[in-house]
Amino acid sequence: MKIMVSACLAGENCKYNGGNNRNEKVLQLMEENEVITVCPEQIGGLPTPRVPSEIRYGVVTAKDGRIVDVEFRAGACRYACRRI
Ligand code: SF4
Repeated sequence: MKIMVSACLAGENCKYNGGNNRNEKVLQLMEENEVITVCPEQIGGLPTPRVPSEIRYGVVTAKDGRIVDVEFRAGACRYACRRI
């Protein structure tokens, strides 16, 4: 089975603060399956480290107020949109 997982869960240092969210269950899953790791935030063009973001009123906004909605959508769409 082919599985796509968040790269930070696989231990890649792509999180906003330059760290990762390494998860042992995900690593186990990777040993048993064909896995593609992706970081949509990086694919969308955002740097690492970067200012953390959240959805405000339906728009992805960085903590410093910069709108990063286009980058997030581009990164997510790079893999997901062609499969919809
Ligand atoms: S976008 Fe990147 S840093 Fe954010 S959860 Fe996904 S893989 Fe982790």
